[in-house]
Amino acid sequence: MGSPGSASIVGAVELGGTKVIAAIGTGPGRGILARERFPTGDDPARTLGSVAEWLQSQSASIGALRAIGVASFGPLDLDPSSPTHGFITTTPKRGWAGTNVLAPFRRAFPGLPIAFDTDVNGAAIGEGRWGAGQGIDDFVYLTVGTGIGGGAIVRGRPVHGLVHPEMGHIPMPRAVGDAFAGSCAIHGRCWEGLCAGPAIAARAGRPAEDMAPDDPAWEFVTESMGHALATLTLVLSPKRIIIGGSVRKAGKLGEAAFFERCRLQLKRALEGYVDSPSLTDEGLRSFVVPPGLGDDAGLCGAIAMAQRTSTGIG
Ligand code: ZN
Repeated sequence: MGSPGSASIVGAVELGGTKVIAAIGTGPGRGILARERFPTGDDPARTLGSVAEWLQSQSASIGALRAIGVASFGPLDLDPSSPTHGFITTTPKRGWAGTNVLAPFRRAFPGLPIAFDTDVNGAAIGEGRWGAGQGIDDFVYLTVGTGIGGGAIVRGRPVHGLVHPEMGHIPMPRAVGDAFAGSCAIHGRCWEGLCAGPAIAARAGRPAEDMAPDDPAWEFVTESMGHALATLTLVLSPKRIIIGGSVRKAGKLGEAAFFERCRLQLKRALEGYVDSPSLTDEGLRSFVVPPGLGDDAGLCGAIAMAQRTSTGIG
């Protein structure tokens, strides 16, 4: 783990659908030297302007930044050769479609390197550097919260491909006896439409935090989680799957029970087809895990992204 003085001080911005977290630091824990929270709102110029100003003022008192990492909700244009690189493209979030996310930071810090990626790729990079993905070249980081997204690290690098993965919207089978229509505005019963926080609340008629541990909705949710985890296992052959986001805390069911059920359902969905010690009852305990950095995975990821950009390490 880095400490002030031994690693470069960078700026980090985790841009989420409801809040933006900005920080200056060198790494997780005590490596975060200052942090601030801003509502995302529906006026990107104002929000991003405030974040850039805060970074400037903190940098003036703490130290010069070597780079800035921005990990953002999307969809994003990540193609460096595109004229709209650094933009949020088609989001339904009011005010934010077509936003040039990087411009305010470029104006505030002329010439400073800026790393830009999805929030989940950022969190994956953070977990790889300091958390549950350390020492593993091939793994997946998922966030299951207000929405669902995933970042795949393959051979140590985040996968971008055509655009970037949109794991939350993979189509899902219908469980026997399940009449729930799903809550994704585009697809209805995609993974996000079945397992994100709002989907669980819509199905159960109350927020996930208030659901009893034996609420039948948990059975449908964890069965769907198992199907989606099986799909990722079959397609990407990851060595670990890290699940972050608020849903994993699972209210009265509890995080440990939620993970146990997801592992069991993953095993059921695979039906023994993939042969690996990681997919036995014992192995699954370290195959499907919570984030090592807890709720700071995304923010620390933005720090790691910035440090990669400024020094090539990580
Ligand atoms: Zn969808």
